[in-house]
Amino acid sequence: MSNAPNLIDPFQRAITYLRVSVTDRCDFRCVYCMSENMNFLPKKELLTLEELDRLCSAFISQGIRKIRITGGEPLVRRGIIGFFEGMSRHLDSGDLSEITLTTNGSQLRKFAGDLYRFGMRRVNVSLDTLKADKFARITRWGRLKQVLDGIDAAQDAGLRVKINMVAVKGANDDELFDIVEWCAARDMDLTFIEVMPMGDLDTMERLGQFWSLKDVEAELASRYTLSDLDLNTGGPARYKRIEQTGQKVGFITPLSHNFCEACNRVRLTCTGQLFQCLGQEGEFDLRKVLRDNPDDDTPVITKLHEAISHKPKGHDFDYSRQAIEGQMSRHMSHTGG
Ligand code: SAM
Ligand code: SF4
Repeated sequence: MSNAPNLIDPFQRAITYLRVSVTDRCDFRCVYCMSENMNFLPKKELLTLEELDRLCSAFISQGIRKIRITGGEPLVRRGIIGFFEGMSRHLDSGDLSEITLTTNGSQLRKFAGDLYRFGMRRVNVSLDTLKADKFARITRWGRLKQVLDGIDAAQDAGLRVKINMVAVKGANDDELFDIVEWCAARDMDLTFIEVMPMGDLDTMERLGQFWSLKDVEAELASRYTLSDLDLNTGGPARYKRIEQTGQKVGFITPLSHNFCEACNRVRLTCTGQLFQCLGQEGEFDLRKVLRDNPDDDTPVITKLHEAISHKPKGHDFDYSRQAIEGQMSRHMSHTGG
């Protein structure tokens, strides 16, 4: 097979999953993700859609089997549907088993049909609250109605939707059961995410926002029976099933639980920097190799292998001493959440 696992890191982990941020821009300004006045990158810094295709195709040739597109908000990148159309050739050939998307849902009404047509079957939609006023406060610029309408459109188009909810103390801790039951009624799985120390938001404010998923899980267990699911996706989530609703719930706990041992992924930023780990600063500039060698992918592939050979064992986030250690200076929207 042309794309048997080929990218093996120093800890013998096969790298088969690539997350790609296609833009740092967004139509929302979620409080835990961006400041209100963001300075975005000049357009020329971004990989063009053709460069993105070239790079993703190089990764696929080296054994990447799953790609998740993220951002910023991926669906605000102009022409992005053309990129998905191009990638569908790798789905058709069987070299890529899945391409998925993490989105805030605002543009799904417009694009869900095209996404399905070009081979996408699942999307993750980020939604932290079902209350319109609170939604407006958390996202600053977002409108709940538009996102709910996008979710309807996605389901109508045949996409399976999973909801991602960032657990934020003082913001959505009173809606836990409402959100679980709303998702269950719509046959959607749900993943909780602990707030991570990304970006440059004020440290004390961040510590105040932290709602441990251990507490979320304990609260769920006070009402439901949770059974363990032995589902290792190589990612940071642990999964349980809620017996009463049949739903799968995921817990992404970078702070209270270290998830690095089975990590199978790397991340590509919208500027073509490859991060081998979300929580480490080490990065490889693939854009330069790409632009220096417009007609030859061999140097790009050599650089991919070099990058993977430097993948660290794990990250260093730690809140346990009431100060944030391992905090990253870059925003989540740059690396891609
Ligand atoms: N705009 C898209 C969205 O919101 O789904 C994709 C990009 S967003 C950066 C990806 C995910 O990261 C979202 O689920 C978002 O809630 C989450 N996220 C952003 N900032 C975060 C933070 N500081 N801690 C934990 N999750 C965060
Ligand atoms: Fe935009 Fe997603 Fe960040 Fe919210 S979490 S500001 S929707 S990139």
